[in-house]
Amino acid sequence: MNLSELKKHYSVVIVGSGLAGLYGVLNFPEDIDILMLSKKERHQSNSSLAQGGIACVLDLENDSYDLHIEDTLVAGGRANDIEAVTQLIEEGPADVLKTIEYGVEYDRDENGELIKTLEGGHCRRRILHHKDTSGKEMVDKLVLAVEKLPNVTLSDETMVTSMSRIKNGFKVEVMRGNEYKTVYADYVLLASGGIGRVYKYTTNPSVATGDGIRLAYEMGASIKNLSYVQFHPTAFNGANREQFLISEAVRGEGAYLLNCNKERFMDRYDSRLELAPRDVVSRSVIMESRRLGSNNFYLDIRYKGEEYLKNRFPGIYAGCLSQGVDISKDLIPVFPCQHYLMGGIEVDLNARTTLPRLYAAGECACTGVHGRNRLASNSLLEALVFGRKAAEDITRCIRAGFYKVTIPEEKEADRTGAPLPKGTRTEIRDIMQRAYFVIPDEGAIHQGKKRIENILNRLKNGKFAVTADYCEALSLATIAYIILQEVDK
Ligand SMILES: Cc1cc2nc3c(=O)[nH]c(=O)nc-3n(C[C@H](O)[C@H](O)[C@H](O)COP(=O)(O)OP(=O)(O)OC[C@H]3O[C@@H](n4cnc5c(N)ncnc54)[C@H](O)[C@@H]3O)c2cc1C
Repeated sequence: MNLSELKKHYSVVIVGSGLAGLYGVLNFPEDIDILMLSKKERHQSNSSLAQGGIACVLDLENDSYDLHIEDTLVAGGRANDIEAVTQLIEEGPADVLKTIEYGVEYDRDENGELIKTLEGGHCRRRILHHKDTSGKEMVDKLVLAVEKLPNVTLSDETMVTSMSRIKNGFKVEVMRGNEYKTVYADYVLLASGGIGRVYKYTTNPSVATGDGIRLAYEMGASIKNLSYVQFHPTAFNGANREQFLISEAVRGEGAYLLNCNKERFMDRYDSRLELAPRDVVSRSVIMESRRLGSNNFYLDIRYKGEEYLKNRFPGIYAGCLSQGVDISKDLIPVFPCQHYLMGGIEVDLNARTTLPRLYAAGECACTGVHGRNRLASNSLLEALVFGRKAAEDITRCIRAGFYKVTIPEEKEADRTGAPLPKGTRTEIRDIMQRAYFVIPDEGAIHQGKKRIENILNRLKNGKFAVTADYCEALSLATIAYIILQEVDK
């Protein structure tokens, strides 16, 4: 569909087709007119890359909501919002079962029972998964379900460049290549994912530039705890620093973490060893690297054997093999990298932001469920629960007969200008990598904030052409600025 074929007005615009957007849209009644936007192809998102799976309590004999809540609070340093955590864990299982109705296949044993795995920080086996490609399975099946909906227009390769509040709704500017379009919405759900690309080393795909958070911030929404960034301890550390993830489930299934001397070392830092929460393991790796003066770390899962590994971790097996590492014979080189954002656009239990009619769900939102640090496999669950909450709340408002957006008479905007100076995004990433990686560097934070402030001013005040590069640089600089401002003492 060409951009010109989009309508001028939709009841709801959803920015993002990751799990939060997809499951959100499935929870609207079919008489509500919705536009769903994806910056790239609709399957390309953090959601599609999720390997480990989705945590939820289904077996109330051997597990309990209270235990899952406690694990979540321990991982989050008890900085979590307890009401949000309770809602997540008590309501989540029904949403997970609903995904099975939409066709998602989680691994089962020979008796057809769902197999549950263990990950760091969980005291029970409660992670449902589809081999090590859980996110792809969920996204693929939910996309198929959404594509059948008569009330939903999906528009790929369509980037929201800016957004503003107008009477009873929003003006949403979108672009594809050098085609532009303005659409108006009564309600907007931001489901635009994470910020990984503000770092040089991240597991996140190229769409994760924090656009939704920048858009909400520019409109005056409250942004909370943006400095709560999670670093994953075990990304693949190849010669070309390919940052694909070696899932926590590999440690959950018994892999050892080794230092440059090929020795286990976690007992030096935490009694939970390899299964300590991921922030603890990441910090331990950095401290061990300083102790030994080496960035060489490894996972060892060889003893599980080729057949088991190929079947349980086919994606990781193939990914490593493509880098020359056979995980049934070789050690896997690993090092920490940016992985997830716990903070974001502040929302309440119904995914409402601090601005009327603006909602946020998934990784771009700060629901408070994760506290300072996310428990493994809780984020897919959060995307489901809060995506649905947003849909239910917006539906209630529409049913209550709230006014529709007033579409103003406006001239076409001037989007011409200079191209983005080369190296702008690299400069931002270098600053963040130095200042605020696993163990923050206070001196670099202060310096970095000043440099980012200059870049941001240049981007805002210069006359730049509205291109994807420019808008993403603006997002990265805004995100970096908010993070460094939050931590600069
Ligand atoms: C490698 C990896 C492994 C993971 N493993 C797990 C796991 O096992 N379990 C777990 O619970 N979590 C896991 N996570 C985290 C989890 O995948 C994400 O937190 C979650 O999927 C986020 O979903 P989302 O819908 O909020 O965002 P995303 O899935 O990232 O979707 C964002 C969407 O927003 C769109 N978008 C962004 N900006 C714009 C714009 N300007 N205009 C239009 N569209 C835009 C994108 O195109 C995309 O469609 C993993 C993450 C990664 C990266």
